[in-house]
Amino acid sequence: MTAKPQMPQATSVYGEVRHDWNRQQVLDLFALPFNDLLFTAQQVHRQHFDANRVQVSTLCSIKTGACPEDCTYCPQSARYDTGLEREKLMKVEKVVEEARAAKAGGATRFCMGAAWRSPKKKDMPYVTQMVKEVKSLGLETCMTLGMLTDEQAKDLADAGLDYYNHNLDTSPEYYGEIITTRTYEDRLTTLGNVRAAGMKVCAGGIIGLGEGEKDRAGLLIQLANLPDHPESVPINMLVKVAGTPLAENEDLDPFEFIRCIAVARIMMPKSHVRLSAGRESMNDEMQSLAFLAGANSIFYGEKLLTTGNPEANKDMQLFARLGIKPEEYQQYQDEASVEADLQAQITEQQNDPFFYDAAKA
Ligand code: SF4
Repeated sequence: MTAKPQMPQATSVYGEVRHDWNRQQVLDLFALPFNDLLFTAQQVHRQHFDANRVQVSTLCSIKTGACPEDCTYCPQSARYDTGLEREKLMKVEKVVEEARAAKAGGATRFCMGAAWRSPKKKDMPYVTQMVKEVKSLGLETCMTLGMLTDEQAKDLADAGLDYYNHNLDTSPEYYGEIITTRTYEDRLTTLGNVRAAGMKVCAGGIIGLGEGEKDRAGLLIQLANLPDHPESVPINMLVKVAGTPLAENEDLDPFEFIRCIAVARIMMPKSHVRLSAGRESMNDEMQSLAFLAGANSIFYGEKLLTTGNPEANKDMQLFARLGIKPEEYQQYQDEASVEADLQAQITEQQNDPFFYDAAKA
């Protein structure tokens, strides 16, 4: 007699926002057969989101390189010789120009990143001005500037900043292997300051640092057991940059990455789970598995800080092939125009004699 197929645990157990995850529960999720894990994650995803919508953000590096921190994965650290060209803080007008282009390309959120330990007093008037002007274009705004004091968080919130990104990177146990110049507690304090100022939180981590599954579980437990789940949870795949201490790390099994997306989706059912750094090295099939596992946000078009990002055209083609549409910005005044912009670009490319339409091949 053939054994009765085992169904994944009833998804009614999952899908609710919880802040009491323990290690064993999370390791049990990681240990599920791949199909069961993806099935469960997709069911949870559909409880809270349209499964065929993906939020689209554009990232702009407003100050590049020469960072005093020692994050071992990062080409922007001044401690590693990666050949990265340093750039001073970008002029406000230039940032606004980039934001305008991002909006025209279909982005609804504009993220501005500076390679700082934390912003200095003299920087604050510039960054707050950037927030005001980018927001006035009808874009959601996000910044990542390093650690923030409560006062700095308040200044950014007063300027209208919607999201602040500050990643936890990995588990508290593995963290010391990756960064020594700031503590896990420092990171949690910044996230607390961002929340207290009333901004939304974007916080996630990196997979492929050499961590084990228990560390991936540990990272997700830290994020999911915060008093409020981050609204946005970037799950990055290590981009190995020559000159950084992690350049020779072993390649990550892509299924391990997809598992992490699925577990994040189950543990933080109402958050946007974002495919971030490392997407360039993912083929279309892997990206579509990530969407199936519950990823519903990407960076689009522009460079992802200093590492490459797939060409915008390729993203649009993949969206079209999968029947995915970009999610609108809720406060966007002219919601239809985001889709119209994207559709116009897809049509324009399809009319290009060199356009390869894999859907029709
Ligand atoms: S990750 Fe951020 S804080 Fe760390 S070295 Fe890079 S820019 Fe600096």
